[in-house]
Amino acid sequence: MPFQRRLLLAACFLLLVAAVLAGVLRRPIGEELFERAASARIADAARGAVTSDSLRVYLCGSGSPMPDAARAGPCVGILAGPHRLVIDAGSGGPRKLAAMGFPVGGLEQVFLTHLHSDHIDSLGELVLIDWVGGEGRAAPLPVAGPPGVERVVDGFNRAYAPDRGYRIVHHGEAIAQPAGYGAEARVIPPPPADGGAVPVYEDGELTVSVFLVDHAPVAPAYGYRVAWRDRVAVVSGDTVYSENLVRAARDADLLLHEALAPAMVRTLRDALDREGAANTARIMDDILDYHASPVDAARAASEAGVAALVLYHLVPPLPRAYLQRAFLGDAPGHFDGPLRVGVDGLLVTLPAGSDAIRFDELL
Ligand SMILES: [Zn+2]
Ligand SMILES: [Zn+2]
Repeated sequence: MPFQRRLLLAACFLLLVAAVLAGVLRRPIGEELFERAASARIADAARGAVTSDSLRVYLCGSGSPMPDAARAGPCVGILAGPHRLVIDAGSGGPRKLAAMGFPVGGLEQVFLTHLHSDHIDSLGELVLIDWVGGEGRAAPLPVAGPPGVERVVDGFNRAYAPDRGYRIVHHGEAIAQPAGYGAEARVIPPPPADGGAVPVYEDGELTVSVFLVDHAPVAPAYGYRVAWRDRVAVVSGDTVYSENLVRAARDADLLLHEALAPAMVRTLRDALDREGAANTARIMDDILDYHASPVDAARAASEAGVAALVLYHLVPPLPRAYLQRAFLGDAPGHFDGPLRVGVDGLLVTLPAGSDAIRFDELL
């Protein structure tokens, strides 16, 4: 047999052996991989819980009410020294937050921008994870938001009441502390329409301020300005271009601004119209007038003098990253600093005592 043919046969034999081994060893290899990944993830979460010298903003949900396999509903986690906050709890957001290594147990407070369903869909899940997922809570989790938040919180507390009983029986009162179950509503009264940001929560070096945005007919709708030491992050909530937001975001390091691409939504509307889906086409028309375009967001960021802009609450869904440039349209021409289309898993780190802004994609 010629040498080359023998070599070929030997190579085929080795490949066959490798394929058989890969099949046979799939279970032990999988077990080993899982063990390593689990250890790394839990260690990451433990590190995240350690006091840091940065203001860290976790984008746990960059999507909107429109179904999007890659994006959870609106959700932002804030880690600042010992402080752990969440702003909005969109569908799937708490899972993404946990997957990013954010220490979800032991939250200090949740802030809701407004009471549209896409911002509260996973509030029950977030409160539950916080109750049994951390070191154990002795008091309910404060959930602050516009008037009406008390009804939302009461509804979730009632809906999860059977689960409360199961958890206490199964895990014991030391872990599922009965007094720590559920959420407690804190109503934030509407701030003045043109008053910029008004402090609503202060603790040590952390100040959370609220400002009114324009999401009519949903009113009041809020945005939040989070300041820790010398760094500032602002979250728009849902709004059209808002002069009051420009006031409230003055000189912030980071602005997370919602964005809807009007041309893309009109394209969807026309396609729905052609297919005879008149109701959904009408909804596409309706949403055009209470969201900001990427250009609006870029203009607001520029006028406010913020250092970096990340768009979130994206409408419509962008199934491929390639579409991001089309989504942005003319926005890059209106803002000089870093401008990013948000993705789930984006962590923005703002170290104290510095102008640095770091972007990492954790998922
Ligand atoms: Zn909304
Ligand atoms: Zn929304």
